[in-house]
Amino acid sequence: MTRRSGTQQYPDVEPDLPPRSRGVIALLEENCTVCMLCARECPDWCIYIDSHKEEVVVPGAARARQRNVLDKFDIDFSLCMYCGICVEVCPFDALYWSPEFEYAEYDIRDLLHDKDHLGQWMATVPPPPAHDPNGEPSKEEATAARKAAGGPATGRAAGGPAATRVRPQRPTGPADPSPPTNADA
Ligand code: SF4
Ligand code: SF4
Repeated sequence: MTRRSGTQQYPDVEPDLPPRSRGVIALLEENCTVCMLCARECPDWCIYIDSHKEEVVVPGAARARQRNVLDKFDIDFSLCMYCGICVEVCPFDALYWSPEFEYAEYDIRDLLHDKDHLGQWMATVPPPPAHDPNGEPSKEEATAARKAAGGPATGRAAGGPAATRVRPQRPTGPADPSPPTNADA
């Protein structure tokens, strides 16, 4: 009774959403290598990708290289359940969440966003959060600091021995009984 009402006056007043809200998915096309991981992992099968191969001639190389060129990248937001798996699995940081959510349509077919439409959402992706000043330094920062201090870098990159896996010892118990022989019968 004494608490103030929490009613939000949307659409007259825009909600103040957290920057990591899952509103819409944005595509950074130049990062996409057409690896297809997102389309394969999407539980709703609502990512449609098409591509072709292109030869890239590298001066001095024995053979021309091949690279995938993205022709089509569509997400059907009428099927998407906003699980975020595609964003999580993309190994090349080509997919991002944007908090924008005002893209309702009168025609359900317009909820299929093609790569140009998905690319336009990139302008609404918030910047990544700043590093926690009290958190641990990143692996790269720690290695650089060790090198600067004249200490050894870790692992194989420093020419150190490769890490070896130690197989756990089986607990010692009574010796296995010898296999039965014809004399036992
Ligand atoms: S958020 Fe989930 S359902 Fe939507 S496109 Fe990505 S993987 Fe598919
Ligand atoms: S997982 Fe990332 S790089 Fe691979 S096809 Fe999807 S968006 Fe492109």
